[in-house]
Amino acid sequence: PEKSVVEPLVAAVVQATNSSRFLVFNSKTAEPLTHHQVELTQEFPKEGWVEQDPKEIIQCTYECMERTCEKLNELNIDLSNIKAIGVCNQRETTLIWDKLTGEPLYNAVAWLDLRAQATVEKLSKQIPGNNNFVKSKTGLPLSTYFSAVKLRWILDNVQAVQTAVEEGRGLFGTIDSWLIWNLTGGVNGGVHCTDVTNASRTMLFNIHSLEWDKELCDFFEIPMNILPKVCSSSEIYGKMKVGALEGIPISGCLGDQSAALVGQMCFQEGQAKNTYGTGCFLLCNTGRKCVFSDHGLLTTVAYKLGRNKPVCYALEGSVAIAGAVIRWLRDNLGIIETSEEIETLAKEAGTSYGCYFIPAFSGLYAPYWDPSARGIICGLTQFTNKSHIAFAALEAVCFQTREILDAMNRDCGIPLSHLQVDGKMTNNKILMQLQADILHIPVIKPTMPETTALGVAMAAGAAEGVDVWSLKPEDLSTVVMERIEPRVEAIESENRYATWKKATMKSKGWVT
Ligand code: ADP
Repeated sequence: PEKSVVEPLVAAVVQATNSSRFLVFNSKTAEPLTHHQVELTQEFPKEGWVEQDPKEIIQCTYECMERTCEKLNELNIDLSNIKAIGVCNQRETTLIWDKLTGEPLYNAVAWLDLRAQATVEKLSKQIPGNNNFVKSKTGLPLSTYFSAVKLRWILDNVQAVQTAVEEGRGLFGTIDSWLIWNLTGGVNGGVHCTDVTNASRTMLFNIHSLEWDKELCDFFEIPMNILPKVCSSSEIYGKMKVGALEGIPISGCLGDQSAALVGQMCFQEGQAKNTYGTGCFLLCNTGRKCVFSDHGLLTTVAYKLGRNKPVCYALEGSVAIAGAVIRWLRDNLGIIETSEEIETLAKEAGTSYGCYFIPAFSGLYAPYWDPSARGIICGLTQFTNKSHIAFAALEAVCFQTREILDAMNRDCGIPLSHLQVDGKMTNNKILMQLQADILHIPVIKPTMPETTALGVAMAAGAAEGVDVWSLKPEDLSTVVMERIEPRVEAIESENRYATWKKATMKSKGWVT
């Protein structure tokens, strides 16, 4: 049969902590046409360690691409309509591979991983000059969260990596670099690059000069020849060399949280979004200003949408464990079979009945930055059952967001009048209502949930030489939104929030 004539399409690889996805968007309507998703394995080989298999990551990406292409064929749509591909990814996760064999030299050390705590403690005693050395260049506190310390740990502890680096075979990358290198040919000429948003999470990148920083590399003892080339978030990096999409340019690259900011059209200074995935990340666009936080937030590169386009920065509140607590209730306690079931279970109780759950599995991130915190469930009585715990887990996500929103409001001076949200968890109606109640401001959710994918598709479609997606404000399709208003009296949620804070104090400093 004759193939349908369609508008130019742009595809997006979303390589998140929990899953790999591949989606195809219509560049004129910003609507997804079809997609495929595969859930990923996370490995917890030791307490505090979180790893992923780099080969599984790339295989799942190929699988998602292939299945999506089959679905396009079923829709009678020719693959040649896809004009560009964007890549967005879980940030910070650190990986080293051999450029001659294409083999990973170690598992990917995931962003949540805590193994480098001793490295952090050692380094923090060696900081040259004032304590601001790292933060003033990178916008980040010295923490296990960022790539440089994970990389230092790998170099110190994995002989195969050390040898490969000494012999000039080792390449470092965050997940975006690994994907782009493989998709553009791997050992046969793969492009070793990253974008400014991903680079800004490595702790080796100077967010003012937008270059790898020699002094930081010296401090962390990272050889600069293993680092990828840093590009803007929207330009042609290379072309697909594998599979049915061969020849299509890869022309967008954004860390997942930056991609969500773009996908939510937060292009103006002061616009913010909160994404609920494995963790929870509130980013506020601060425009061309690099704003430093006094309240535990990070300063990060929001995007740079073209080689000659200006860079925009963001303030970020990062919460390590959000959806991951639901996955933990499913996988470790088995009190639900699917993540979605948490809603039904929480509804049975309709309250946490005084139970509080601090999911500090990876220490506490913003605004506390306490690596020694650990999870606690408290306020239990003989009356407490699993549905109260389910409810408390959902509340925990909302309280953590409240903490970072408060910090954001203090740093920015102008309180947010509403919160734009996205991510898988926002399908959960109880969660969204609780969030509005706990923040006392309306929560606004796009009806198209795939804003992260949309953001990187926009970056890819707008790249010079692709030019199928206009980012001019007048051309951007307005996103259809659903609005959730707070329903409870402020005093009620303030009391609960105060108790939450008390419980948080108990989780702090747990590991000595
Ligand atoms: P990521 O982008 O970090 O991989 P996703 O956006 O795919 O995460 O969200 C997946 C996370 O959200 C999982 O941790 C899962 O447990 C949680 N989740 C998914 N659906 C729901 C739901 N309806 N209610 C609560 N949590 C959910």
